[in-house]
Amino acid sequence: MVKSNVVWHTQSITKEHRQRLKKHKSFVLWFTGLSASGKSTLANALECKLHKMNIHTYLLDGDNIRQGLNKDLDFSKKDRRENIRRVAEVTKLFVDAGIVVLTAFISPYRTDREMARQLFNPGVFIEIYVKCPLEICEKRDPKGLYKKARSGSIPLFTGISAPYEEPVKPEIVVDTQNNTVNEIVDQIIDYLKTKQNL
Ligand code: ADP
Repeated sequence: MVKSNVVWHTQSITKEHRQRLKKHKSFVLWFTGLSASGKSTLANALECKLHKMNIHTYLLDGDNIRQGLNKDLDFSKKDRRENIRRVAEVTKLFVDAGIVVLTAFISPYRTDREMARQLFNPGVFIEIYVKCPLEICEKRDPKGLYKKARSGSIPLFTGISAPYEEPVKPEIVVDTQNNTVNEIVDQIIDYLKTKQNL
């Protein structure tokens, strides 16, 4: 709840000052998709590439954030929303700091992703739908989570016992069934060169 006696304090150094110092714009690459679709793998590979290009980046990864900032949250619809709300607010601070942020969260609900998008100016929130059929994700199962979800030991597992709402108009769609990690990284870099003057 916002307290009426809390007043925003204007700061002299702005996002634009910080961006000038870094010599690039700041924005967010918001990866969304099923578990094991490839969000963390792609975000990590893309961050390596951007780093080599002298871009200042930070990667917020769902599994890691849930061990710290959001360790009090479960996988109910309400807590998933709170998970995304906090991550989006943290992302906003990083973008204000002049950083290119990569986020890797399932973020299964459209309304929650929309809530995140609304925190940013137009063009700053770049939604990347990491598309991969459930059967392929389940076959990959790098952490054995699908197996556990099928056996009933993980409740509310996205794609099995909880919904995933596909993005309607994401800025970028990547297909991890038919393209390699390197091909997809190049696809995203091409987009950024065209749209963000990278
Ligand atoms: P998520 O973060 O979406 O849960 P992960 O990145 O943790 O997914 O796991 C995806 C798994 O799929 C990894 O084991 C990765 O090596 C594998 N994989 C196979 N092909 C691809 C691809 N084209 N893009 C991304 N990941 C892939």
